[in-house]
Amino acid sequence: MTDRLSGKTALVTGAGLGIGRAIAVRFAAEGANVMVSDIDDRAAQSVAAEIGARAATNHCDTADESQVQAAIEETKARFGGIDIIVNNAGIGGGADWDRTIAVNLSGVYYGLKHGVAALPRGGSIINMSSMLGLISVPLPPADAYTAAKHGVVGLTRHFATNAGARGIRVNSINPGWIKTAMTDPLMAAPEFHQYMNQHSALGRMGEPEEVASVALFLASDEASFVTGATFVVDGGWTAR
Ligand code: NAP
Repeated sequence: MTDRLSGKTALVTGAGLGIGRAIAVRFAAEGANVMVSDIDDRAAQSVAAEIGARAATNHCDTADESQVQAAIEETKARFGGIDIIVNNAGIGGGADWDRTIAVNLSGVYYGLKHGVAALPRGGSIINMSSMLGLISVPLPPADAYTAAKHGVVGLTRHFATNAGARGIRVNSINPGWIKTAMTDPLMAAPEFHQYMNQHSALGRMGEPEEVASVALFLASDEASFVTGATFVVDGGWTAR
């Protein structure tokens, strides 16, 4: 490990599990203070305990604008500033239209709206979209999810364009199938593995840590000229 985020403070939403957890752990290992924010307090506390002194926890349902604003304020108050926001919290394709749009699209919007107002020059915002922000798959329950994740790409471009003059960068990560609680039910189905082998160039699912390493790059000053971009982390799924 190095100190690529030394002296910086990050807020990660949905950081109690999966991709958000991996990002929080990696950012802290690279020297950042991390606010581990989640709707599930116990999960957030467990990740913060794993990280140690550089972590604090926050309860936030990202579908509620006032809670997102409060999470940003709490991060600033706890660590004396905020440099990085990862709008990661999201729910899978099984939820209804309104809740999916509220969490997966409006939640990201609230993080951008209040994040851009709070971050200093050099700040970085990372939005968790999906490869379903760029393409679709033949899964009918993924309609609202696909719409929301396409919307996250649009929000990323809008806020990158409009926050650039203030020196704030905004990018999205668009993961393919990653091994988390969200994809657990799919992994139980043998036909899913066949589907995976047919469509993924690397022929496997990704690990949360493989998304976290891209988030680390985007959060760090090494990405100082990168904004408005969509980073596909999908093992080559969208390339085929
Ligand atoms: P996960 O394992 O289900 O973890 C998501 C975490 O976010 C959980 O702790 C969850 O709490 C929390 N959460 C859910 N709704 C929330 C809300 N309204 N406010 C705050 N926290 C909330 O999911 P993941 O697979 O790591 O997904 C993380 C992000 O990556 C999501 O935006 C997802 O759409 C995106 N993504 C995932 C994949 C994949 O294959 N896994 C692919 C592309 C994109 P509960 O457990 O209590 O719900």
